[in-house]
Amino acid sequence: MKIGFIGLGNMGAPMAANLARAGHDVTGFDMADVSVEGVEMAASAADAAKGAQVVVTMLPNGDILRRVAAEIIPAMDKGAVFLDCSTVDVGSARDVAADAQAAGLSALDAPVSGGVGGAAAGTLTFMVGGDEAGFSIARELFDIMGKKAVHCGPSGNGQAAKICNNMILGATMIATCEAFALADKLGLAREAMFDVVSTSSGYSWSMNAYCPAPGVGPKSPADNGYQPGFAAELMLKDLRLSQQAAEAVNADTPMGAAAMALYATFVEEEDGKGRDFSAMLPRFETRGRG
Ligand code: NAD
Repeated sequence: MKIGFIGLGNMGAPMAANLARAGHDVTGFDMADVSVEGVEMAASAADAAKGAQVVVTMLPNGDILRRVAAEIIPAMDKGAVFLDCSTVDVGSARDVAADAQAAGLSALDAPVSGGVGGAAAGTLTFMVGGDEAGFSIARELFDIMGKKAVHCGPSGNGQAAKICNNMILGATMIATCEAFALADKLGLAREAMFDVVSTSSGYSWSMNAYCPAPGVGPKSPADNGYQPGFAAELMLKDLRLSQQAAEAVNADTPMGAAAMALYATFVEEEDGKGRDFSAMLPRFETRGRG
């Protein structure tokens, strides 16, 4: 397939490299001066998009996506697929999809989970909104870049699934960390805490697969000095998107709002920036109620 790939950062570069390695003809563009193995670089986003059957975007936010979309939609061939894999607000995803469809394109919003490690290994999970025709064309690419793609319904539903998932993740990570810090103060060994909770009703992905306590449970960023992993500022971004969406549809999300406020404090006023989002545990360890 002839593929355009715009946004070759931490996630986009390894995803584009995997598509090229699988034999696809990939033309890339990034504002920054980057090179990616197997990917031919174009002089502009429109040049990368011209003649492509699928154009993938992997960009920082909804405003940038809107700007790039305005540039590439007129350059794309009718019937081509606009495949946005960025994490953006549901409103931007739906607006960009409507513009693409009005220009005779298929549009998919397909944010990912799995992080930089999953992008490099080709094991991402894609949560996909958009039409069935586009999904069936892109399926082959999802299989190369990831291990699973779930079609969640019409445009915007991929972003909706992603922010709902990450709102649960942010809240459960905080709950897991505060419970560990309480257990410490009650004199309960972390190993015992893990053994009980990971096999009891408090279990979750945060406890069982990504335990925030070093030396306990499977290997996780806690065992590596809380190097991300999934950085606290990326969790904050997703929690903000969840609250923006909740506001737009008048949904009551008190736990999501509390998680967002705590990650904002951690990232913007404390030492959370650049640390894994599970570094909430050392944050709680040092604090009392006051
Ligand atoms: P990044 O900042 O490393 O990459 C973004 C790239 O987009 C950069 O290379 C930047 O130069 C480029 N860019 C910005 N504006 C552009 C423009 N107008 N035209 C062309 N290129 C432009 O970010 P990332 O970590 O690769 O994340 C990309 C997206 O994936 C984000 O939406 C993020 O929320 C999401 N995501 C990231 C992770 C992760 O662990 N890093 C995990 C899941 C989802």
